[in-house]
Amino acid sequence: MNSEDMRCDSHCQICQSDDIVTVLKLADTPPEDQFVSKDRFDVAQPCFPLEQALCQNCGYVFLPHILSPKISYQTYTYETSVTLGLTNQYQSYADDVLENHAPAEDLLVVDLGSNDGTMLRAFKRDGVKVLGVEPASQIAQKANGSGIPTINDFFSRSTCKQIIEDHGKASVVTANYMFANIDGLLAFTENVANLLCDDGVFVVLTGYHPEQMKINMFDYIYHEHFSYFTVAVLNTLFEKSGLELIDAIALQAKGGSIRVTAQKKGQKRQASSRLLDILKEEYNQKMHDAETYFMYSKNINKLREECRKLCKELKDSGARIIGYGASHSTTTLVYHFGLAEFLEYQIDDNPVKQGMYSPGHHIPVFSTDKLYQDKPEVVIVLAWNYAKPIIDKHTQFIQRGGRFILPLPALELVGL
Ligand SMILES: [Zn+2]
Repeated sequence: MNSEDMRCDSHCQICQSDDIVTVLKLADTPPEDQFVSKDRFDVAQPCFPLEQALCQNCGYVFLPHILSPKISYQTYTYETSVTLGLTNQYQSYADDVLENHAPAEDLLVVDLGSNDGTMLRAFKRDGVKVLGVEPASQIAQKANGSGIPTINDFFSRSTCKQIIEDHGKASVVTANYMFANIDGLLAFTENVANLLCDDGVFVVLTGYHPEQMKINMFDYIYHEHFSYFTVAVLNTLFEKSGLELIDAIALQAKGGSIRVTAQKKGQKRQASSRLLDILKEEYNQKMHDAETYFMYSKNINKLREECRKLCKELKDSGARIIGYGASHSTTTLVYHFGLAEFLEYQIDDNPVKQGMYSPGHHIPVFSTDKLYQDKPEVVIVLAWNYAKPIIDKHTQFIQRGGRFILPLPALELVGL
């Protein structure tokens, strides 16, 4: 392995402590979303360590093995993450922020990782100026074309300086489902603090690890996600960056998400009672204690053995097994549970994935029509978080004798 491809951190990015312990060791995995076309079979897809570490000083859970962006994004294909459901969610999010934290008068709202501008469109109204920051050039171009001014760059110290010079300081800064992908969290958050005007707010929407752990959602762990946050850790990070938390709200999206709001230290807003409740709950759940994660790790590996045993029995009895879903998460699941040996192929509803081959194993991905043409006996629902809509959509498969395996949150066999 080339040392330029990966680095291994031996200290905490947030508090600099070296009191670090590995708490969950998953199977080595190639970059999880690099599904390839047949003509790219010869491109090497090496596996990299996929482990979670805990800082025993501040409670930060993170991946110590960080892949270089060159490796992570070498076959990156544009695919917007914005869906119709998200648009509605973002509208009430924007209304809530403006109503409770920043009255809409002569405001600048900056969205970091602004994608195609959906979030900012929800903020747009009289008296509100919006500005996006998006590193992917095609997506930034699309946003600009649709009337959402967007800077095509990473949010660095110099980008921050440029925004202040050109537009002034921001009243609201948002970061949605991108904070866990930031390498260099402290510098990033300090830049945000710098960009904010004195009574401005910073709002972060990100995956919420304590809730995801409750449903054994270990497949949310992949190389692009460096951080697995608790509110307590976000609190520490913000404090070190000149900010303080004032609110947190837990949401159900993506198996468990959290939306936190921070202001500059010493400003007038008081911490909400729901923020204090969440901090108390995390303490009771022992999210700062390595033992909590060791127990989780044991449980995941027990589920792995159960799932493999069932697959082996079904395969030995002559059943053909395929997988439903093709994404970052399914790659983590297939590698850690060792499912590749059982799967003839995968199917997915997303046309972008159809006709491609899975990272590393090169398992072919087909459209879901194949389920009825080829008639395999068993489908492992790799995208188990969507098990209900998938099963509801394919009752016909069950009616003709097919069976679904749900690998998580607990092993289940669904059929007649
Ligand atoms: Zn730490």
